[in-house]
Amino acid sequence: MSRVYNFSAGPSTMPEAVLQRAQAEMLEWGKSGMSVMEMSHRGKEYVSIAEKAEADFKEILGVPENYKVLFVSGGATGQFAAIPMNLLAGKTVANYVNTGIWSGKAISEAKKYGEVKVAASSKENGFKNIPARADWKIDPEAAYLHYTSNETINGVEFQEIPDAGGLPLVCDMSSNILSRPVDVSQFGLIYAGAQKNMGPAGIAVVIVRDDLIGHALPITPSIFDYKVMAENGSMLNTPPTYNWYLLGLVLEWVKEQGGLTAMEAHNKAKAAKLYAAIDASPFYGNPVEPAFRSRMNVPFTLAKPDLEKEFTTQAKAAGLVSLGGHRSVGGMRASIYNAMPMAGVDALIEFMAEFERKNG
Ligand SMILES: *Cc1c(COP(=O)(O)O)cnc(C)c1O
Repeated sequence: MSRVYNFSAGPSTMPEAVLQRAQAEMLEWGKSGMSVMEMSHRGKEYVSIAEKAEADFKEILGVPENYKVLFVSGGATGQFAAIPMNLLAGKTVANYVNTGIWSGKAISEAKKYGEVKVAASSKENGFKNIPARADWKIDPEAAYLHYTSNETINGVEFQEIPDAGGLPLVCDMSSNILSRPVDVSQFGLIYAGAQKNMGPAGIAVVIVRDDLIGHALPITPSIFDYKVMAENGSMLNTPPTYNWYLLGLVLEWVKEQGGLTAMEAHNKAKAAKLYAAIDASPFYGNPVEPAFRSRMNVPFTLAKPDLEKEFTTQAKAAGLVSLGGHRSVGGMRASIYNAMPMAGVDALIEFMAEFERKNG
């Protein structure tokens, strides 16, 4: 067996220890006589797995008492619709900050349910920074303010939680949740698909403050209604049981590593090394203003763009895969989530230097 360093943006690399544990428990979980994926979601054993994952998630993120944590299907994209359906609550306008391609998708979907006012946008400059907070136009009548804490495709990340101007703050944290400590009490709602930093695709997590639950539009499908989902312990229907279990294993791994403070230190060190290598080279470039660069997704360009295909081919041969940029923006991108070890970043930097020596 030879496992590669996988720089995919999502689904993405998993901690090897988690895969090994899943393998060890594949045929029989505990003394149950069956695999987790064969268990009834209402049974005592599975309920203990689900409850442990929820408790660990709350512990790791320090989720306050007045929030519910929901495990849902439909990905972050499902939440693009669920959020306006649940949070407009009699109002007609929602504020969105547009800092990249994922913000744009959230905005497009929200427009089906209400009026979207874009409070700030970096679209004109090609999403290379985040507009200064002083220039944001917040509508005090809006139901909430939505932003994307890490733009997975553009490689732009908020380094601080923005002031929501009194509105409930809603955040798509899909690609940087669990990468650093976060003060959940500053948010009305946080959501994230699992497949970047928490586990396999097919499950997403919503953290929602109690007062924002119970106001869904009548058309809201029950599986997207936070009140219905909260009342049913995220098991109104059959949840993605095996993904929930794997997410739980990732959470145990995060705890073993030392929690979010340790994750942050590790991620900071990895990103600093990679950006330093890019900045030191005339052959590689990163378009994002340094203050807004993502610790999770590092896009980079080659001075000779016609060598991009050669770069990814040779990288693959060296055991470094999925380095192509998103189909919408091109270039290269290295995603270095929690599960990417420093050794993977070192191997990439070494490969990049060698490629530059041969082709620069
Ligand atoms: C991947 C991603 C999404 C979409 O997630 P799905 O689970 O595929 O719906 C949304 N927002 C961000 C920031 C992402 O990185």
